[in-house]
Formats: sequence, structure tokens, C-alpha cells
Amino acid sequence: MANKPMLDVLIIGAGFAGICAGIKLRQAGIERFRIYDKADGIGGTWWNNVYPGAACDIPSHLYCYSFEPNPHWSRLYSPQDEIQAYIEGCADKYGLRPHLSLGREIRALRYDDETATWEAEFTDGERVHARFVINGSGGLHRPSTPQFKGAERFRGITMHTAEWDRDFDPTGKDIAIIGSAASAIQVLPAIADRAKSISLYQRTPNYILPRNDFAYSDRWKRLFRRFPLLNRLHRLMIFYRLELFVYPIITRGEYRAKRMEEARRYIKVMTRGRKVRAAMVPDYEMGCKRMLISDDFFDALNADNVELVPQPIEEITETGIISSDGGERPFDAIVYATGFDMEGHLFGIDITGENGITLRRAWNDGAQAYRGVMAPGFPNYFMATGPNTGVGTASVVYMIEQSIGWIMKCIRRAGADKVVSVTPEATAAYNSRIQAAFPDTVWTSGCQSWYRKPDGRIEILYPHDARSYRRQMKRVDRQHVLFTPVAEATRPTLQAAK
Ligand SMILES: Cc1cc2nc3c(=O)[nH]c(=O)nc-3n(C[C@H](O)[C@H](O)[C@H](O)COP(=O)(O)OP(=O)(O)OC[C@H]3O[C@@H](n4cnc5c(N)ncnc54)[C@H](O)[C@@H]3O)c2cc1C
Repeated sequence: MANKPMLDVLIIGAGFAGICAGIKLRQAGIERFRIYDKADGIGGTWWNNVYPGAACDIPSHLYCYSFEPNPHWSRLYSPQDEIQAYIEGCADKYGLRPHLSLGREIRALRYDDETATWEAEFTDGERVHARFVINGSGGLHRPSTPQFKGAERFRGITMHTAEWDRDFDPTGKDIAIIGSAASAIQVLPAIADRAKSISLYQRTPNYILPRNDFAYSDRWKRLFRRFPLLNRLHRLMIFYRLELFVYPIITRGEYRAKRMEEARRYIKVMTRGRKVRAAMVPDYEMGCKRMLISDDFFDALNADNVELVPQPIEEITETGIISSDGGERPFDAIVYATGFDMEGHLFGIDITGENGITLRRAWNDGAQAYRGVMAPGFPNYFMATGPNTGVGTASVVYMIEQSIGWIMKCIRRAGADKVVSVTPEATAAYNSRIQAAFPDTVWTSGCQSWYRKPDGRIEILYPHDARSYRRQMKRVDRQHVLFTPVAEATRPTLQAAK
């Protein structure tokens, strides 16, 4: 072991989380780290999702690092290429390129009790060792494609929005879009005017609210550049608007009822035709599934060459799709806008901690982590977006900054010779508090959503607002988080081995 090269920190993923971790490590003077990503480029979500219309749905000035504001955002909700350029710019500015290893997929992580270090195994069999691991592998990188009967027979083009072929030209084509949620409502308006026809297959309607997007004028961009404080104020304003006016939809029934009424009215006004209207207005509580925003979706949906198919898909044939209304529609291309496999997020890598316990076994009854970041039995292992860190309103990037900030406090305090671990008691207590908060939210109001497991447990979302997460991540509680000298941390195993 002593001869093996040892990283101080191994980072998985070069998305917002991995890049943030790299920046913070360098700022702390820690240089022996590597960022591994299975993709051939950095950016994570924004490297993968290049479908037409891809953009953030949290205002850009909040969907970026607080320590690296960007006065140049072109719009309130900037498109994919700008977000990608922003992440690339951060990697350059903070000197992360020499720390990156791309096209490298980590298959397994194993904790060595004797040396209190981690071994990462790549899909090509190579192994790398590190004291600390920061898992920034994100939640949305494994496209989920439902298994429709006959799908393999289809002779036309098939793609998932997260695997978009940049050479695909929709011009003059009959296209099916399966799914009607976040990516579908972005891609439809972006290609509808070129396609010959588009059929949008919808399983459940969504609350789609106006986006009120706009372009920042050159004058505003100049002002943001010249007066960084103005930029910060703008970010703060966006943050508090979400916290004070959007987050209560999740927790306050009366407030939600009013917003829901307005939203239903909006959808009715924006849709054409009785049948479409009936199919587009959700019958569940607003916020129970992810709320969507768009300024151009309804116009596209109302276009003469676009059809909503709210009936379930029965079968895919060599040439098209048969739905339960009996009709077969022929297509040149089928686009799956069907989201991501969330299992892949928490269990995508085989992780074995102390005493050979796997994370899969430790989480047999449900994934849970201390403050979303650490799990007992997995020392020196940190998650950037672990269980129960998905915030209801503010940006994921905001949450990532809080978790990475906390992780950095631990790594700094551990120094060269301590092992960081969390107690099972603190983890259990934290999670009972988290789970006890869900009945007060709309997420348990009865809709079927990818937020909830079949047994009703919610493992993805954080039940409080983003400010509360920031508060809890401000300090490391020494009663919950232990810093054990390496010699002591490894002693039980060595004694057991004698
Ligand atoms: C189209 C789209 C729009 C979105 N818009 C918003 C928005 O507006 N606001 C918001 O808050 N969130 C949004 N999200 C969520 C978004 O995923 C997060 O905001 C954020 O980008 C997550 O960053 P991350 O670094 O945690 O994960 P990712 O960006 O997913 O990066 C993780 C990286 O880890 C790599 N990886 C995974 N497993 C391995 C492995 N085993 N070995 C090596 N590398 C691995 C992946 O290749 C990936 O590059 C959006 C998501 C999508 C798909």
C-alpha cells in the first residue's frame, strides 16, 4: 500500500458539484486531487443535455456559484450552451484542467479498514487510491427509457433527450415525443416549426406556469459588470422571491390553493379545444410533482402540426406507435423525454465501507445520510447531492455550494492524520426529523411522482427551504461528526486481524 500513489481527494463527476469541490480544494491549498468523469467533457448535466431548447428553469443569476457571479448571462433563464461555457470558464479560471481525467468511469469504491483509505476501481480495471472521496456524480445522468412493447422493432430514429444527436434535423419529419414534463416542454417549441408533425404522448399533465423570460439588455450587463454589488443584489432578490413566494406552495395549503386556482385558469386559457384542455389540467395538488415553466409551450401545442396524445402507449411498431385510442401513428423519429433513472444516482457505483458493509445493504430500508452528506460506516466519504438534498425551489447549485462548504470544513479539520466519520445515532435522529417533516408538505398529498418510493418514503427531496439547509451546513457538530486519529481508526481492524 505504501508504494501506491495516494490522492488526498478523489472527486467523482465534473458537473457543478465536482467543479465546485475542485475549486474549493485548490483554494484551501490542497493540490493532490483528481476529478474523474465518465463523460468526455466537463459540465455534467449541461454536457449531456444538448437537445434544442435546453435551458435552466431557475434564473441564471441563482443557477451559478455565489463566489463566481456572471454578469454576462444573456437571459433570465439562459440556454444550455451558456451554462456549459460558464462551467468551462470556471474550470479554466480556477486552474482545474490539470486535475481532470475524462472518459473514466468509476465502477466501485472500497474502503480499506487497515489504512483508512479508499480504493476506486474503474471500468477498465485500473485502481486509484485516495484518503477522501467526494461523490459529485449527480442525480440525472442515466437516461430512463420505458420499455414499451415492440420498441426494438422501430426502424426510424430513436433518441432520449439526454442523448440528443446534434446532426438530427427535424425538418419535414413526423416526430413522436414521449413524455410531457421538463425536457419535453423545452424541446417541443424548439423543433415544432420545422417538423412536419409532432405527437406529444402525455401520461400525466403538469402544472405549467408562465416563465416570464427576458433578455438582459447590454446596459444591464454593463451595470452588473461594473457594480458587482448590484449583481449580488439581483441574485439575492431572485433567491428571496423563490423562498418567500414559491416555496410556500409546498408547505402552506391555503396559499397553494390560491396559486393552484390561478395556474389551472392559466392552463385553461392557454390551451385550445375542449379535449386538450381537459387533458392538460392536472387533478392533483400543485407542487406534488415538479412545477414547470414555459413561455412558448402552449403556443407550440396549439399549432396545427402538433397533437396531444393523452392515451397510454400500447405498442411500438416498425413504423410508429399504437396508443390505447386504437390509432397507429407513423413516425420518422421517436424522442424519449422520459427523464432519468434515479436509482442510478445513489447506487450507480458499488460502494463498500467499513467491515465490508456495502452501501446498498446499509440502505436496504431506504437511503439516508447525515445532512445529506455522510453515511455511518463510510468514513472519509462525502456526497455532494446525497439523500434528501433536492430543494423545492432554489437552485441545485446553491445546495451543492452548501454541502461542499461543509465537506471542506471536515477535510480541513481532518488534516493529514484524521479520519472523518458520522455517528449512526446522529444520522438516525437527523433522518427521523427529515421524514417527520414530509407530511406537512404537498409531496405526500397523494400524486404519483418520481419523488416518492413505492413505500411512500421520500429520499430525494429536502423538506425545508434552502435557507434552513444553509443554516444547518454552517458548522460541523463535533458530537455528531468524529475526527479520529488514523492510528486509532485503523486499530480495531488490526486487532481483529491478529
Ligand atoms: C435538462 C436539465 C435542466 C436542469 N435545470 C435545472 C435548473 O434549472 N435548476 C436546477 O437547480 N437544477 C436543474 N437541473 C438539475 C441539474 O442536474 C443540477 O442542477 C446540476 O447540474 C447537478 O450537478 P451535479 O454536478 O451534481 O451533477 P451532474 O451535472 O449530473 O454531473 C455529474 C457527473 O458525474 C458523472 N458521473 C456519474 N457517475 C460516474 C461514475 N461512476 N464515474 C465517473 N463519472 C460519473 C456524470 O457523467 C456527470 O458528468 C437540470 C437538469 C437537467 C437534466
